[in-house]
Amino acid sequence: MKKQLFGTNGVRGIVGKDMTPDLVLRIGKALGTLRPGKIAVGRDTRTTGPVLVNAIKAGLLETGCDVIDCGILPTPALQYIVKEHCDGGAMITASHNPPEYNGVKIIEPDGTEMGDEETVKLESLLAEKAVSSQSWDSVGTEVAEPQLIEEYVKAVNSRFSGKPGKNMIVVVDPGSGPACRTTPAILQALGCRVITINGIMDGTFPGRLPEPSPDGLKGLAALVLANKAAFGVAHDGDADRAVFIDDQGSFVEENQEFAVVTQQICKKAGSGTIVTPVSTSLAAEIVARGAGCRVRYTPVGSIYVARTMMELEKAGEKVILGGEGNGGLIFPEHQYCRDGGMTAAMMVSLLSESGEKLSSLVQQLPERHMVKEKIFTSHGPRLMELLNTRFSHDSIDLTDGLKISRQNSWALIRASGTEPLVRIMVDAENLEGCQKFYREIKNIVDEILASFV
Ligand code: MG
Repeated sequence: MKKQLFGTNGVRGIVGKDMTPDLVLRIGKALGTLRPGKIAVGRDTRTTGPVLVNAIKAGLLETGCDVIDCGILPTPALQYIVKEHCDGGAMITASHNPPEYNGVKIIEPDGTEMGDEETVKLESLLAEKAVSSQSWDSVGTEVAEPQLIEEYVKAVNSRFSGKPGKNMIVVVDPGSGPACRTTPAILQALGCRVITINGIMDGTFPGRLPEPSPDGLKGLAALVLANKAAFGVAHDGDADRAVFIDDQGSFVEENQEFAVVTQQICKKAGSGTIVTPVSTSLAAEIVARGAGCRVRYTPVGSIYVARTMMELEKAGEKVILGGEGNGGLIFPEHQYCRDGGMTAAMMVSLLSESGEKLSSLVQQLPERHMVKEKIFTSHGPRLMELLNTRFSHDSIDLTDGLKISRQNSWALIRASGTEPLVRIMVDAENLEGCQKFYREIKNIVDEILASFV
């Protein structure tokens, strides 16, 4: 059985079109049936948040769940609250999508996002409409607990001792999202002098879109330079991701961000395992190995990273960091989910310990280049089969799609599960190597596709 409605990070759509209060009500009923008990709900700052959060609450209450409404907060804050106090959670958010979108992320009792198997069960409850409606004397109760967010801020800060941010200026761009309530407070508690931009919660996103793109962060970069800040940090719409502007005002590409954090954490630990998807640049593996650590690869998607980390830990492996090349980093001693606020705090701590500037840590990384292309075709699955055979003499890995590893470079070819297209990524030490590898694959893809006609 495959998921139909939910993607890797919940269900999302344009509100009023494919994301409606009716659908969210039904998700609430299905979740209440699958996870009876105490359920925490929260939302990001989108204008449609109140509509959808009330819909999910109605569904949960009808099935007898007791609801804790945490108000507006980052997804990792809700995940922390669920892990500490609840039997499950539902976050109303469309993460990095534009303002007209909204959606639902389902949180498991351990604070992780719901995995594939359980999501299939949830979807089948949606389809069957087999929900347990309760009578007047057994419907759920609701309480508002907007102050629980403070426990999350404290939990992040409890991971650091002293004031590592003393003498450090940091500019925070929460993008008018829920991290307005958390990241400035977290960094101030670490001793930083904090300046904010887009620091007032606003679901119309007047300053920039929820995706923290280099283009949208020009204002942040200017403030970093003008204030001689140590760095600038920006979040996506629900603050599970964090991206950085270095002290020179340059955007730190997210694979480089992951490699910088990997390098510092590996150096400190001396041994251990890093977990990341097959789509992450080799930079992280190179620096991890250089510091005596190893890397384990997973399918693309943060839930696979989080679950693999937990499994490896259970099996006795020392897992020190997880994350993706998109600014979504997981710190296992804190919680098994991506956490933008924790990532910002960790950057303060790592810079303070290393005594180096962020720009120089980035410059010290091994040089890597990446090419990402899409090929539109409805023959994705057949193409993948033939490519597997075609490259069977190479060193290949089928963790997710087809990954071909060569001397110091790799290519990843994946057919989209939802769209008629195939994605090709190539990672190499220089642009020329990237383009050459890409052209080789593209020629073979063209040849195979031509044979279909
Ligand atoms: Mg997000």
